[in-house]
Amino acid sequence: MNFFEFTTFRTKNIILGIWECLKQLGRKELAYLLLLTLVCLVYFVQGDHKMSETRLHDATVAMAQYQERLKLNINSDYGDSLTVQKEREQLLMAIEERIVTYLYQIPDYSYIGSLETYLKCRHVLLEQLPSAVPLEKGDYILSSDYGIRSHPISGKTKKHFGIDLAASNGKPVYASASGIITDIFYSDKGYGTHIIIKHRFGFQTLYGHLDKVLAHKGQKVEQHELIATVGSSGSSTGYHLHYETIKNQVKIDPRPSLALKKKIYEHVIQINPNKDGEE
Ligand SMILES: [Zn+2]
Repeated sequence: MNFFEFTTFRTKNIILGIWECLKQLGRKELAYLLLLTLVCLVYFVQGDHKMSETRLHDATVAMAQYQERLKLNINSDYGDSLTVQKEREQLLMAIEERIVTYLYQIPDYSYIGSLETYLKCRHVLLEQLPSAVPLEKGDYILSSDYGIRSHPISGKTKKHFGIDLAASNGKPVYASASGIITDIFYSDKGYGTHIIIKHRFGFQTLYGHLDKVLAHKGQKVEQHELIATVGSSGSSTGYHLHYETIKNQVKIDPRPSLALKKKIYEHVIQINPNKDGEE
């Protein structure tokens, strides 16, 4: 009998043993056992949730402290002396060691505000997380916000899990961050023709009610890459793009992401006027 067979044999015996014990129990005892299992499960799930909340809190505090020191370093009275530069490099390295885990941990954009100083130094990172409007400037108006609203077709009060950007038929739709196209759906209902892109750090974006799809499933895309055109497919009352941002499987408010890249780049251009902007 090899190791694998031995382990299977032992597992089988343990399961059979438990089953024999269970058969001896009455209804009352079984109900009690079931209740106990449920209580244990709830306890473990809650414990795990609390632990991840504590981890996030600790990471946020540590990150805020590094950001504060970085801000002081950048605005230092000693200008760009070697000591200041050396300290800045050390701070950036310390943040870099933590930033990937941190960006995966955070549940929404409210945590990104405190990273602005770091992002001003490492703005390329913004290309990997949804931080831009998926339509061209001047092509759209925000016609429906994220949150509770009266549904335009059913009239029922319902949460709107994205934003609607009204635009003319055929206007180009761009990926709001680099990533990989994981799904393309064609439907007459709901989001109609829609694309889902998976980005780094647990982000996904959804582009709904499209007309033409100009990319394929599995395609790697860059931020600002053309992926589709605006349409009115599915449950829609007019030409618009329904845009969603999803973080760690939860649909979050995309509005803080729309101006994020612009805000950071505007600052970068201000402090470095000879460098061309990328927006
Ligand atoms: Zn919508």
